[in-house]
Amino acid sequence: MKTVPRVLVVEDEPAIAELIAVNLRHNGFQPIWAIDGEAAQRELDAVLPDVILLDWMLPGQSGLSLAKKWRTHARTKPVPILMITARGDEPDKIAGLDAGADDYITKPFSTQELLARIRAVLRRRAPEQANDSVTLDALELDAATYRVSYQGQNLKLGPTEFKLLHYFMKHAERVHSRGQLLDKVWGDHVFIEERTVDVHVKRLREALGAAGAMVETVRGAGYRMTAHPTA
Ligand code: CA
Repeated sequence: MKTVPRVLVVEDEPAIAELIAVNLRHNGFQPIWAIDGEAAQRELDAVLPDVILLDWMLPGQSGLSLAKKWRTHARTKPVPILMITARGDEPDKIAGLDAGADDYITKPFSTQELLARIRAVLRRRAPEQANDSVTLDALELDAATYRVSYQGQNLKLGPTEFKLLHYFMKHAERVHSRGQLLDKVWGDHVFIEERTVDVHVKRLREALGAAGAMVETVRGAGYRMTAHPTA
């Protein structure tokens, strides 16, 4: 049986929400509309969606603070967040990614662009469900339980950082260009800028703490994960 991916649409403008919902339904998704953060929270408490489509500008709690909140809660942490921002709001996009959004889409957007991005975040999530674990030095990643630990201490990682680390650990000691990482980790980089990789690598290093040095920048080439950091 084919499962229909659930998309929680957090959008306060009914006309936009309805347009998105119609297009999602027409393309094999199940949209659930929440008018604000409170309504969205009620939906999340009931059934977890496969993706959250989150408007930046909302009455009450902003999309940014909601993204931050959902990233810190164990229950909602694995659900990818696609942030909707206003046109040309570059600092917003970076702040959104820093808050834990997996990607962003700028208003106004086409249905095709929206669907492509939703499919991309869903694809990105899929390999994480693979039932394997990887060890590199004292760093351990267990994809089945979604856990990362260093010297036995559990670490907190966002979904994109988890995926990125998983890839780095499975292909340690090799240099990966930003473009290669977008291909392998993001899966579909048509709409994603290479700078996005730097944002997530920075977040990954921060999340790894003492093990952050294992993710090395190779000048002019990209990034490498190593058990023997030179720095
Ligand atoms: Ca809005």
